[in-house]
Amino acid sequence: MRLSSRVQNINDGGSDGWEVFYRARALKAAGEKVIELTIGEHDIGTAPDILDAMHRSAQGGHTGYAEVPGIKALRDKVADRFQARSGVETGRDNVLITAGGQAALFATHLACCDPGDRALFIDPYYVTYPGTIRAGGAVPVPVQARPEAGFQPRAADIDAAAEGARSLLINTPNNPAGVVYSRDTLEGIAGVVKDHDMWLISDEVYDSQIWQGDHLSPRALPGMAERTLVIGSMSKSHAMTGSRLGWIIGPAEAIAPLADLAITTNYGVPGFIQDAALYALNQGEAAEETIAAPFRRRREKALQILAGQNAVKAVHPDGAMYLLLDIRATGLSGDGFANALLDARRIAVMPGESFGQAAAGHVRVAMTVADDLFCDALETLVGFAGELARENMADAG
Ligand code: PMP
Repeated sequence: MRLSSRVQNINDGGSDGWEVFYRARALKAAGEKVIELTIGEHDIGTAPDILDAMHRSAQGGHTGYAEVPGIKALRDKVADRFQARSGVETGRDNVLITAGGQAALFATHLACCDPGDRALFIDPYYVTYPGTIRAGGAVPVPVQARPEAGFQPRAADIDAAAEGARSLLINTPNNPAGVVYSRDTLEGIAGVVKDHDMWLISDEVYDSQIWQGDHLSPRALPGMAERTLVIGSMSKSHAMTGSRLGWIIGPAEAIAPLADLAITTNYGVPGFIQDAALYALNQGEAAEETIAAPFRRRREKALQILAGQNAVKAVHPDGAMYLLLDIRATGLSGDGFANALLDARRIAVMPGESFGQAAAGHVRVAMTVADDLFCDALETLVGFAGELARENMADAG
């Protein structure tokens, strides 16, 4: 039977970018020891007190259909958290609770774009972006942020692609680059989306993982609150990846139809998960800092390991739980290097190419294993890159 072109084309006939990860999992299933520095998931599980809150809620009976836009207390809490951090007045009507940031990415694109509309996004990007846009019927158009510019996107490049586009998706702190967009960058972006009357979809799921500088939500820039949809999530800030709880923050006129859309998709998020999220958010910013602390620590150690060698260059990691490493001195592509490293040293990292063309010749390292193991793995990676770089130099000479 024929299926819709919409579902058949989600990956545009290509790969979903996760091959090295699947290979690593297959090796592990076959009994091999592999160090996985691939997906963005904490090495700790969800904290026991959050699980207790979830259990109490479920035992207390919150297991039926929950309010679809989200329970009022949670919407209020998410609004307060955003307002406290950004200074932008935000209330319950500005918030829709979704099944994770991923469902929010899908819903926002459905809300902003009609079938066939151009939807811009910045390359390098989180792996699911193009597929999410295609699944919603729009046409994904990448705009490259360049390594020479520290992966800060340039307004002129976005402007050049913006004709006829309905939305621009950005992500700061950025996965995979670990870059935090500067005020200049965000003001430039705001100018372009206003000039072209576009929506800005701002993926801020790493807003609690800032190592240097400050996180600025573009929703706080002049004239942007009416055209910005912010995506947030409990996944990264509270190690609740499996709970599937996220949100969209935007103008009330957009949130109301997005709530209608939520009725046709998930019909809400489980009440006991929402209660657990409310409990977790009520623990305040210090609890988020505790979750971020291991990545902050490992990033420091990584900078020490990477200093004083030339085979691998780090994109300066200012936020998020990743390092993006330039391995072009080895003469390999990111894909070639990631596969060679997995074959030779049983360490799995993500090829930069999985995140777009802008990150070609790079690999992304998730800082998601215990400190000692992480340092050993990074030292091994650096040593391996050094060997390859020397061979590459010898060949070139
Ligand atoms: N955006 C970015 C940039 C991500 O890295 C991820 C997950 N890795 C998501 C959104 C989706 O997160 P979730 O659905 O778990 O909230």
